[in-house]
Amino acid sequence: GVTRLLPLRYNPGMTEPNSKVVTRFAPSPTGALHVGGARTALFNWAFARKHGGQFILRIEDTDQTRSTDESVTGILDDMAWLGIDWDQGPDPADPANRQIGDRGPYFQSQRLDIYKEHLQRLIDAGLAYDDGGAMRFRTPDHDLTIDDAVLGEVTVKCADLEDFIIMKSDGFPTYHFAVVIDDALMGATHVLRGQEHLSNSHKHAALLDALGLERPTWAHIPLIFNMDSSKMSKRDKAKTARKTAKEFIQQNDMKSLVEKLVAADWIALLSNEQENNLLDEFVNKKNDEMRVAKHLADALSITLPEIEVADFRASGYLPGALLNYLALLGWSPGDDIEKFDRDFLVERFDLSRCGKSNSKFDREKLFRFNADAIAELPTDEFKTQWRSYAEQFQPELFAKVTDERFDPMALAYHQRSRTLAEPLNIGRFLIENDDDIEYDEKAVKKNLKKNDGEGFGVLKELRSRYADCDPWSGDAAHKVVHDLAEEMSIKMGKVAQPLRVAVSGSTVSPPIDQTLEILGKSSTLARIDRCLTLQTAAAE
Ligand code: GLU
Repeated sequence: GVTRLLPLRYNPGMTEPNSKVVTRFAPSPTGALHVGGARTALFNWAFARKHGGQFILRIEDTDQTRSTDESVTGILDDMAWLGIDWDQGPDPADPANRQIGDRGPYFQSQRLDIYKEHLQRLIDAGLAYDDGGAMRFRTPDHDLTIDDAVLGEVTVKCADLEDFIIMKSDGFPTYHFAVVIDDALMGATHVLRGQEHLSNSHKHAALLDALGLERPTWAHIPLIFNMDSSKMSKRDKAKTARKTAKEFIQQNDMKSLVEKLVAADWIALLSNEQENNLLDEFVNKKNDEMRVAKHLADALSITLPEIEVADFRASGYLPGALLNYLALLGWSPGDDIEKFDRDFLVERFDLSRCGKSNSKFDREKLFRFNADAIAELPTDEFKTQWRSYAEQFQPELFAKVTDERFDPMALAYHQRSRTLAEPLNIGRFLIENDDDIEYDEKAVKKNLKKNDGEGFGVLKELRSRYADCDPWSGDAAHKVVHDLAEEMSIKMGKVAQPLRVAVSGSTVSPPIDQTLEILGKSSTLARIDRCLTLQTAAAE
């Protein structure tokens, strides 16, 4: 039988056991916050908030070689962006301060003495033994059952429970050991985490029993997969980049790919032989270097799949839309409700509505959620969100959005944008230099050159009327189009389309009045003039 140790004396200031719900999110800071991690954080947060309990953020930085400060900062930042706040844990304003917290420290690397103390208790009871400098835990000689709040009773046979290492020879605890001590000492009443941890829980139960510490309620939530049932991992980004690169090489050759990278200004990547090899190896699946993937994506104009919260931020998702979508991965409020906000989630979140089967990450659905969420923003809120997004992620483009253009552009693109990146992506032509507009050949042929340059004729007439148009406004510019069509007895489109091609280069833009209002008079005239030179060029 297993020796049961006496319960620990709780340290002063420690959370009273079971006084209230206490949950925690315990990321290992070895990379950016993955959407799966964000979902786990969200569920723990929502559960604590719903019950008026405490939500703890604990940094599991016992893997000294892979943990970085940068990851800590990134995780804190992404959680704050999603609106997931914590009651105990690192200070967001001072993430490098590992000592912080009345009941902390909340960094496992700062808690080594605590683990040692408990290890000693196990050693004294004959439940841990030396194995080549590491310490191994003696597992019990009976089957172990845990009562999972989502999956029900799950039993592991005694024969399947091998003695496992709890303290490494370098004096650092293993995950299993640190996690049980901390959950118990920090008073975690509920541990919600991904199903990949289910088999760990039996180890944790055995340890807790041996230490005389109370087991929390475990709730293992479904795993998240890609639509094709593959694992959703950051390697997907490398995969996508590699696939596109290979297709490009097949159609052209490696040399042109290198040229393309150089032309796209990523000489740095190719500045020496070593880096050249890096590209070669990447294409041949010998490395998954993220910087190579990013350079390839930029050079070949593709978007890599978003995997981490930071990716979705950079792609222009709203935190509320991502939070809403993540909440549906393994939980549902019922009543056919799919769209909701943070407050609704807190009000309704419930373990009994957590599912058991795997979830699939449906990017298109999330994209639609985002488009709808953007459309539903009050105009002022859209402006605020767009500005802060563009300042952070498209600073060079955004610098070209003059103060006068900001409001009309926001109005023109609010209902047309499905991400916060789109106003400046779709609307790039508006802020480009007048001389940099690239004309779509088909559009020019169809709307300007056809029928002996009919469209060019219309454009010339517009040019002279616009020269006299004072004061300039979208309405005034539109009236000119309207009047000219009437005088010529042709459809409005026959006037507006040549004009649209002239100012935008293509046949797609917001309504012509909005477009011309944003451009202003001098840009409109300059672009028409430049477009008219295409006729001369065509004639030669
Ligand atoms: N640090 C562990 C992880 O990131 C925590 C798992 C747990 O919640 O117990 O997977």
